[in-house]
Amino acid sequence: AQLTNDDVRNLAKEMGVKFIRLQFTDIFGVLKNVSITVEQLDKALNGELMFDGSSIEGFVRIEESDMYLRPDPATFVVFPWRPRDGGVARLICDIYNADGTPFTGDPRYVLKRVVAEAGEMGYVMNVGPEAEFFLFHVDNDGRPTTVTHDRAGYFDLTPVDLGEDARRDMVLTLEQMGFEIEASHHEVAPGQHEIDFKYADALDTADKVATFKFVVRTIAQRHGLHATFMPKPIFGIAGSGMHLNQSLTRNGMNAFYDPEAPQQLGETALYYIGGLLKHARAITAVTNPTVNSYKRLVSGYEAPVYMAWSSRNRSPLIRVPAKRGQSTRIELRSPDPSCNPYLALAVCLKAGLDGIKNRIQPPGPCDRNIYEMTEEERAQLDIGCLPVNLHEAVRELVKDGVIKEALGPHVYNRFLEAKDIEWDRYRTQVHPWELEEYLTKY
Ligand code: GLN
Ligand code: MG
Ligand code: MG
Ligand code: MG
Repeated sequence: AQLTNDDVRNLAKEMGVKFIRLQFTDIFGVLKNVSITVEQLDKALNGELMFDGSSIEGFVRIEESDMYLRPDPATFVVFPWRPRDGGVARLICDIYNADGTPFTGDPRYVLKRVVAEAGEMGYVMNVGPEAEFFLFHVDNDGRPTTVTHDRAGYFDLTPVDLGEDARRDMVLTLEQMGFEIEASHHEVAPGQHEIDFKYADALDTADKVATFKFVVRTIAQRHGLHATFMPKPIFGIAGSGMHLNQSLTRNGMNAFYDPEAPQQLGETALYYIGGLLKHARAITAVTNPTVNSYKRLVSGYEAPVYMAWSSRNRSPLIRVPAKRGQSTRIELRSPDPSCNPYLALAVCLKAGLDGIKNRIQPPGPCDRNIYEMTEEERAQLDIGCLPVNLHEAVRELVKDGVIKEALGPHVYNRFLEAKDIEWDRYRTQVHPWELEEYLTKY
């Protein structure tokens, strides 16, 4: 059962909570906090707490900066790593304008809107994310490095990994916070890890991803490590993805499953895939929103480059895992954990719904290794490429009315503005690689 405002009041008292962090994310998915004492809780639960929206990146200008936080009582949770006495809890908030209307620049609102659109069509989206991250050492001054000391590989069971302890602590902490952890393992690269938690509806999952990143970083710090969700921290080894396993239910039943259909994949699943493939290039600007994201989307490291789908192999953008029945789902493999989870889920769902509404047939599944095909073979099968850099991705977003609509004008404009600046700063910078390559050659 979901918690009510009264439950929150009682729980806070019972659990000796002294401080409450009111959380939300900015457009770039960065978690923000306003900390209050428990004495202010009533005021907060009534949505009376104001903050200055102009201090949050991508929100509003100074002239229109009064914004209100409305905590969602269902998100109340006590931080297990803080003392029992004078404890700390958090509430995730929706953001409202001074006139009582929802603030359209709030990423949580953006997702809620697309979720409501799905609801009108009778669908509920469920998502199970697989976030990967690196654990790095910090130097003597406490600054993060890119040094790892472990020698373990994928699924290896060895005592040499200093990260194992940290990861176990992360899993235990997340469980105490109500996460159901389904898997946790070392990933392919040294120092790289993955923790998977059980799927939930889109909003719950987006909240959980935001919380997850914050918990992972916090616990890493307590182990003297730095956790990073940067997609490609080191050249030449695997980057970190955040595969998104997606499904729709209708009247509580999995809408992708059809026991009669080929591969038991129903029309709805195929149209959803069709929509995702159609909008994949624009979506990438949101699911892979940093300059660095595109250093991960290269061949050789299990990250997707080509836009195809398959139930057999892991090279395409979309994989259909073998499970059927209630577990029938598609796995989008492009997203990385630097994305804003609310916006990423909003654009994925929007693309899938567009596929369903317009009965967009995907091309047939591609069960061959796409990386080994020639360019001509790919052209024949109509297999395109994901954008190769942030600039190209953002240009695709500009051309895609459906995905723009998913974000809404406020978020779209701010996002575009910020990403153009980010690209320009990167583009005009002289990077170490260039000096190494050209300084003595010319
Ligand atoms: N790290 C890979 C990526 O970038 C995924 C590896 C895996 O989970 N099979 O997406
Ligand atoms: Mg996985
Ligand atoms: Mg993985
Ligand atoms: Mg996966």
